[in-house]
Amino acid sequence: MKKVVKFGGSSLASAEQFKKVGEIIHADTDRKYVVPSAPGKRFSADIKVTDMLYDCYHAAEAGENFSEKLVAIKERYNEIIKGLELDLSLDSEFDLIEKNFKEKAGSDYAASRGEYLNGIIMANYLDVVFIDSATVIFFHEDGTLDADQTQKVLSAKLAKHERAVIPGFYGSFHDGKVKTFSRGGSDITGSIVAQAVCADVYENWTDVSGFLIADPRIIDNPVGIETITYKELRELSYMGASVLHEDAIFPVRQEGIPINIRNTNAPEDNGTWIVESTCQKSKFVITGIAGKKGFCSINIEKDMMNSEIGFGRKVLNVFEDNGISFEHMPSGIDTLTVFVHQDEFMDKEQQVVTGIHRLARPDTIDIEADLALIAVVGRGMKSMRGTAATIFASLAHAHINIKMIDQGSSELNIIIGVANADFEKAIQAIYNTFVLSKLEIEE
Ligand code: ASP
Repeated sequence: MKKVVKFGGSSLASAEQFKKVGEIIHADTDRKYVVPSAPGKRFSADIKVTDMLYDCYHAAEAGENFSEKLVAIKERYNEIIKGLELDLSLDSEFDLIEKNFKEKAGSDYAASRGEYLNGIIMANYLDVVFIDSATVIFFHEDGTLDADQTQKVLSAKLAKHERAVIPGFYGSFHDGKVKTFSRGGSDITGSIVAQAVCADVYENWTDVSGFLIADPRIIDNPVGIETITYKELRELSYMGASVLHEDAIFPVRQEGIPINIRNTNAPEDNGTWIVESTCQKSKFVITGIAGKKGFCSINIEKDMMNSEIGFGRKVLNVFEDNGISFEHMPSGIDTLTVFVHQDEFMDKEQQVVTGIHRLARPDTIDIEADLALIAVVGRGMKSMRGTAATIFASLAHAHINIKMIDQGSSELNIIIGVANADFEKAIQAIYNTFVLSKLEIEE
């Protein structure tokens, strides 16, 4: 068995955390390829090393004295090295970084040093080979990943090493200039490495025991999700649930490699499995609930709309021309509603109204603001009668008025629109009905 293990910033923020990571890796000899992030926060008011690097480089770029800022970063690493009692000095690395900052090597180069240096420490601590990601992960000139070249070079390189540390978050353009992924991008590196070595599992270690059925800021102590499919995850993360970088799914999905989200601070927890497909059913019918506030709806009415060919296209043209993407578009016989993000729409509101009048000649346009969308997601809904009815009944009992209902044709989710003010109450009501009541019955 071959496992790729990625550790997030909070898992590597201090020597104490590093030791937990060391124990996790040593506990399973299949954990062969390690992808570290940069040191994250040690406590909630702390600053991530990545942010310190960006800040330090901005000072360097502005021609300010940045040595104090760089010393503070060096201290973060030295504290880890000392705590692990390693015979390692990063002095020459920091001299080179200082020189490159002065020569304005770029903010991507600067940020990438966070994982680069942590990778050197990790390789030393585990006594395995360190592979600089700039030599094995490549980007096209337009900034997108050159997946073909990366897989070719990376898999050939890793075939030569039974174990290795490959720092997360960065690679290079073909001319050697360092380029990072977007923030949180070490998740993507882990996924790319898993693909390159044909791993059996991609373990992604963080500071929570996987995904929760609902947002813990809304629901007290929500139940965790044991297994979720890639598609369900996409629906939930689109609606605001985030643990994993979105782009991390693609490389492993191509190979059908499962991802296991685990907690460095509670390694005994099984975490969440993210899989292509499964016959395992969620015992709650639904897999998760997520949602976002801050939408508004544009309700358009026109007599005999349903027989007018091209009406929808004309309306959507107006949104496109104004650079606004729409979220949902439920329609009735003579009505069509377009849901958009309120902050994107607000400035262009009157232009859109005028545009629709001009192009589509509706009878009325009515805008409603301060709406929230809630997605109830679950592969189990497909084979279950009455899920929608149960959702609506639970909202009715909680005295919540439903503004919109949209069931995707995949039958994987039901999206409900409610007033912003009802958002938390609605999630609570759905959670109580599907999860809490079931747990109470079991007890
Ligand atoms: N260190 C980078 C960040 O803070 C990348 C990562 O941790 O995944 O965004």
